[in-house]
Amino acid sequence: MNIILLGPQGSGKGTQAELLVEKLGLDWFEAGKILRSIASSNNEKAGEIKQMMEKGELIPDEYIRLIAWDYINHHAHSSGILFDGYPRGVAQFEALEDMLARFGKKVDKVVYLHISDTEAIKRLGGRVMCSKCGQIYNLLTDDRPADGSTCSKCGGDLVAREDDKPEGVARRLQLFHERTAPILNKARTLGILEEIDGERPIKVIFENIVDRLK
Ligand code: AMP
Repeated sequence: MNIILLGPQGSGKGTQAELLVEKLGLDWFEAGKILRSIASSNNEKAGEIKQMMEKGELIPDEYIRLIAWDYINHHAHSSGILFDGYPRGVAQFEALEDMLARFGKKVDKVVYLHISDTEAIKRLGGRVMCSKCGQIYNLLTDDRPADGSTCSKCGGDLVAREDDKPEGVARRLQLFHERTAPILNKARTLGILEEIDGERPIKVIFENIVDRLK
């Protein structure tokens, strides 16, 4: 089953993705994580990508398509991929449908984690990332690290993400409404949309998603 997990920044997408991948045995395409690793590498595009990400701008569709294509090709025999942070617009959605179709596959479900802008802004104020392995935590929710200050997975130091500064957050929310949200209409028309209330405890949301995917 190929699933797209959609939601604004701070909706808890990453946390739910991690749980779903484990529960359903899916492969996980995490667009933001791949881009962050390119941005901190010596790739010729690193500087340009880093700058766009820090401002909260979207990376051009064609570049993302190549990254997704590479992933889909390498996972041609996968029983299912969870797309997290991708697609972020109708053009990316259509490109994804096209790429999957070449392997006789399709997008089976679009899961939309809904939270208000006020809640998103509040939550992002508490978001931190491990400087070593990139794991994301939130100091304001039940997604905080076990000891409250270092990464529970690798012990690395936790730092705020550059794009979680107020200007970046506002721009990303604006882009979510303008560019990403139109995917919802498309998914609704296709009959594959599952809307989930994201302002509840992690476990409740997770059970709700699993139920809807049955
Ligand atoms: P995320 O970790 O999903 O919040 O993504 C972090 C940043 O990576 C975004 O603000 C964009 O700059 C970039 N990015 C991630 N996914 C995409 C995508 N599908 N299309 C364009 N830019 C993206």
